[in-house]
Amino acid sequence: MENNIVKIVIAQKLKLFISALLILNTSQAMTQEHTPANRDDTPNSAVVVRDLSLQTETISEGLHVLIGKRAIGNVLVSIGEDGTFLIDDQFEASAPEIQRAIEELGGNTPTFIINSHYHHDHAGGNQPFGDIGAIIAAHDNARKLLERGTEIELLNLVVPPAPKSALPVITFAKEMKLHLNGNQLQLTHMPDAHTESDIIIHLIESNVIHVGDIWNYTGNYPFIDSGHGGSLAGMIEGQRAIADIADFNTVIVPGHGSLANKVELVSYTAILSEIYENLIEHAIQGDDLEAVIAAKPASKVHEFTTGIINEAMWLSVVYPKILESL
Ligand SMILES: [Zn+2]
Repeated sequence: MENNIVKIVIAQKLKLFISALLILNTSQAMTQEHTPANRDDTPNSAVVVRDLSLQTETISEGLHVLIGKRAIGNVLVSIGEDGTFLIDDQFEASAPEIQRAIEELGGNTPTFIINSHYHHDHAGGNQPFGDIGAIIAAHDNARKLLERGTEIELLNLVVPPAPKSALPVITFAKEMKLHLNGNQLQLTHMPDAHTESDIIIHLIESNVIHVGDIWNYTGNYPFIDSGHGGSLAGMIEGQRAIADIADFNTVIVPGHGSLANKVELVSYTAILSEIYENLIEHAIQGDDLEAVIAAKPASKVHEFTTGIINEAMWLSVVYPKILESL
């Protein structure tokens, strides 16, 4: 039974597994463990993050972002007349700390949660909050992937099927509008970007956009989950779509990293676009992955943080999709 819950726990691969989580979660070293001794029998408890403390940044009255140490997933908190709602909920183990932060802000147990995408550093808190009645909304594909369980081969990361209480009960294909705490929330699918399940959430009256991991603003190579629909082209397209609806006062909440604005987003997209164009040229010339890695097409354009995911790893995810697309 335990084998069904966490498919693989391998001492010799522990380091790589931690690396996998870091790529999903953060740009810097983060203390995590994944061992039989420290998990219980709930799927998302496979991850133990030692320091779950959160910093709060207030955007406007009743609207806050909880930012974890070393850039673990950003949680947007809205507190108002309709209660407390969240956009993303980090890991399962984060729930008590999220709840504590909400109470400090004067909010209550969240009644509504939106997942920006399926990754368990953004939707891992679904179960504890779902267990106490939160209604969860996400893209159709987020529910599908959570329900099915996923494996990211490159990272040796296996997330088993989520229990029922962790599944979104409201899902949509292209777009949906919600009305909460005085905001119209425009939820829009961005296909094949970081994953196949990405949505952006535009809080229209507050002029805030939570963009999930379509923009991971940490300085890392942007992780692209190519096994679940992600592509560099889609990520660039998604970022351009965000820039199109943002104005120069819009607060952009990236999936990880500090709060940002349109100018920063556009600058970042320009970097990715230049790399993408280089890769297209390599693909047209018929270069194989080895040749592309040797040419260092990304590091020529921009110096990303390479603590965990390096350029070669990144290219091994990104380049085959570009070859396929020609
Ligand atoms: Zn992600």
